[in-house]
Amino acid sequence: MCGIVGYVGRRDACPILVKGLHRLEYRGYDSAGIALVNATGTLHVFKCKGKVSDLEHFLEGKDLGGTIGIAHTRWATHGVPNDANAHPHYSESESIALIHNGIIENYLELKEHLMRQGVRFTSDTDTEVVAQLLEFHYNECHNMLEAVGRCLRRIEGSYAFGIICADYPNALIAARKDSPLIIGCGENENFIASDVTAVISHTRDVIYMEDGEIAVLTAEGVNL
Ligand code: GLU
Repeated sequence: MCGIVGYVGRRDACPILVKGLHRLEYRGYDSAGIALVNATGTLHVFKCKGKVSDLEHFLEGKDLGGTIGIAHTRWATHGVPNDANAHPHYSESESIALIHNGIIENYLELKEHLMRQGVRFTSDTDTEVVAQLLEFHYNECHNMLEAVGRCLRRIEGSYAFGIICADYPNALIAARKDSPLIIGCGENENFIASDVTAVISHTRDVIYMEDGEIAVLTAEGVNL
């Protein structure tokens, strides 16, 4: 099991996400990471093998601004536990970041297809394929929600996803199938998480996402 936390709101996302990761440590994991879109619309990913406390050391001195972000603790299924295989995963242009809990069963055929199109991969995970496929479809249709829909129709397996994109600095996208994901609804802020322990100190207003649902979270609300 891994852990997922996401935040969009008016507060600094980083400390909220790190605290959420600590709350999910009991689930077990081998690496941890975080992605943030800062006030100038730049997407940053920070990740490393090891504990959440190792990630905290790694974050020291970095540009951690941003009121939207996603964070992950990984339990490796595809690719050894190392820095490159830790989540979040970037798309090739580094404008999309994605976290995933679950297994993409048809990742190899999708990866081969994308590599034939010239896409370069930086990890051995099944998850990176989804980040790259998402960008592939985004480049086709220029609409992130439509691209997520196209992507989900092509992948087989289990997933809880959290997605942020530099082009949509106010929106966090979530989707799930056969892996748990909840939405925490706050005042001018909203959360996603693998379970309620990660958000309970912020809100008790929780939505349990259904299989096949896609949600768009902004500071102001949640669209399912
Ligand atoms: N299958 C993905 C990986 O190996 C996600 C594992 C997880 O659920 O933490 O990176």
